[in-house]
Amino acid sequence: LVQLSMPLNFMGMIYREIKQALIDIDDMFQILHRNPEIADRPGARPLAVSAGVVRFEDVRFAYDPARPILRGVSFEVPAGRTIAIVGPSGAGKSTLSRLLFRFYEPQSGRILIDGQDIAAVEQGSLRAAIGMVPQDTVLFNDTIGYNIRYGQWDASEAQVREAARLAQIDRFVSALPEGYDTPVGERGLKLSGGEKQRVAIARTILKGPPILVLDEATSALDSFTEREIQDALDKVSRGRTTLVIAHRLSTVVNADEIIVLDRGVIVERGDHQGLLDLGGVYASLWSRQREADEAREILKRAEQER
Ligand code: ATP
Repeated sequence: LVQLSMPLNFMGMIYREIKQALIDIDDMFQILHRNPEIADRPGARPLAVSAGVVRFEDVRFAYDPARPILRGVSFEVPAGRTIAIVGPSGAGKSTLSRLLFRFYEPQSGRILIDGQDIAAVEQGSLRAAIGMVPQDTVLFNDTIGYNIRYGQWDASEAQVREAARLAQIDRFVSALPEGYDTPVGERGLKLSGGEKQRVAIARTILKGPPILVLDEATSALDSFTEREIQDALDKVSRGRTTLVIAHRLSTVVNADEIIVLDRGVIVERGDHQGLLDLGGVYASLWSRQREADEAREILKRAEQER
């Protein structure tokens, strides 16, 4: 029996390692797929994060040379502060987060973290320093617990639960018959956009990165879910340098600074009240969104009454 169990144990170990490797490859593929040309420069050093200051210096970028997307963007996110980027659809907001991750490189200008040009640091160290809550989280075909723990393999059960609690997903998970062992993803339980985003928030809380990028979901969430996600995001961003890519405006009211991007240039910057008083692009985006929200509420009420 001992003779039989040894190879079986060994095979189990190999299986787990292969499965892990496949998932990492999957993850890597997603990254590489975006731009295989971007690699560590010779002599690249690991990023050393101290305060966590993020700085964009006159960044110019185009996916296609004929169509400039960012046309000289400069701003700084001070350590521990939150800056929100807003602007019309297609303005280049999400592109800023892709550049910060170095999925692409600016054609000119620099992006610095604590004074180090991100183009000159090791990519692994850059991505380890930044937590990303993307618009659309892709879940692995594994349990919900695995998806929260992903990358932080030494996290204890209690830490996973605490992260889930802060991300406001713990109650939902605990109510499932299999709890944290519930399979999710393509072949398991399908989660809603808001639930997936909270899994991503829990994963980020567990990772505990000094810098955060929150790319808000474009799709409209109901106002209860939106509030829950907002609470979770407030908790995770406290004390971390945070860049919020805001596709909806309700999340930006409390940002330390709001930057309005329009066709690749910064057209306004300030706080919420200051920008409303200015009566420009931000003020008109704000009033348009309020009208859309009100219209949605009216429609919902009419549906409920039917
Ligand atoms: P939204 O609020 O609608 O998400 P956004 O301001 O985040 O918009 P980006 O996603 O940064 O906009 O895109 C800016 C422009 O770049 C868009 O016109 C888009 O079509 C274009 N674009 C985005 N990704 C690519 C890509 N991989 N290749 C070519 N063009 C792209």
